Amino acid sequence: MIEKTKKRSTFQIGLISGKGGVGKTSISSSFGVIFHELGKKVLVADCDVDAPNLGLLFQSGEVLEQKTVQTTEKSLFLPELCIQCKRCVDEEFCKFNALSWDSSINMPVVDSIACEGCGACYELCPEHAFEIHAIDSGTISHERTKYGFDLVWGETRLGAQTSGKLVTEIKKIVNHTIEANNLELAIIDGPPGIGCPVIATVTDLDYVIVIVEPTSTALHDADRAIQMLNQLRRNYGIVINKADMWKSGYDIIVNYAKKHDIEILGEIPVDMTIPQAIVNGLPVYTFNPQSPSSKALKIITRNIVNHFLS
Ligand code: SF4
Ligand code: SF4
Repeated sequence: MIEKTKKRSTFQIGLISGKGGVGKTSISSSFGVIFHELGKKVLVADCDVDAPNLGLLFQSGEVLEQKTVQTTEKSLFLPELCIQCKRCVDEEFCKFNALSWDSSINMPVVDSIACEGCGACYELCPEHAFEIHAIDSGTISHERTKYGFDLVWGETRLGAQTSGKLVTEIKKIVNHTIEANNLELAIIDGPPGIGCPVIATVTDLDYVIVIVEPTSTALHDADRAIQMLNQLRRNYGIVINKADMWKSGYDIIVNYAKKHDIEILGEIPVDMTIPQAIVNGLPVYTFNPQSPSSKALKIITRNIVNHFLS
């Protein structure tokens, strides 16, 4: 499945998995450190906006920029306009169950977590006693890690449903930073699943690495991610994490890759150094560059350099 992408000044690689918890963030963090050590002008971004933790492994550094983004809309009830007809609740204006009646004040209340900002309450209320307005839905931070390369990451706020839009905002900052600093490489840690945030992550990337473990659930979810990548016409390959965990599962992945003509960029063994590194809040390559997983990660980065960056 590797198409030799034409050499460009910047190459953007995403890591996704379909399933969460298969080692994406551990691998992304070490990639950043190894590529930096190899002399590549690299930037790392965390687009797993519902559970960002790449910054924890880099123990964050100097904050260069931090901003709040408004990508979510919610309904605000305007009691001064309400004539207490109760139609909004009796006629079920809200299909998201975000409207209920508060008998103590004889007026409706909006559940801002459940509200999707669809605007039906505003349209249907005879007095238009609602206002649809943008709310703070997440934050984006641009930091300089202690290693010297930049990290861009975002985090959704509780109740904000538009994490795909937040990912798009992160990628705008990534692209701006790449351009402003003439960077060669971006490593993008993607969200799990195959929903909007993942699609927003992989759109326009040069290459996507699908991390898969030899378990039936991980392969099932990786297969769904691969189908999505095919639909989006992305270039991609596989890295097998915990490759020696289950021989039959490993064989299934290898046969799957052969059948679908997918490049296996490398494999990482089961290595207790990885959880130890996480406990210490460090990329495994920083924690112990001689560990079996660090050596495997270095081989994979060399494969990436040979394929795309040399
Ligand atoms: S429909 Fe409008 S005016 Fe009637 S109770 Fe609901 S908010 Fe008030
Ligand atoms: S904006 Fe839509 S989702 Fe929100 S309360 Fe009104 S009808 Fe419900």
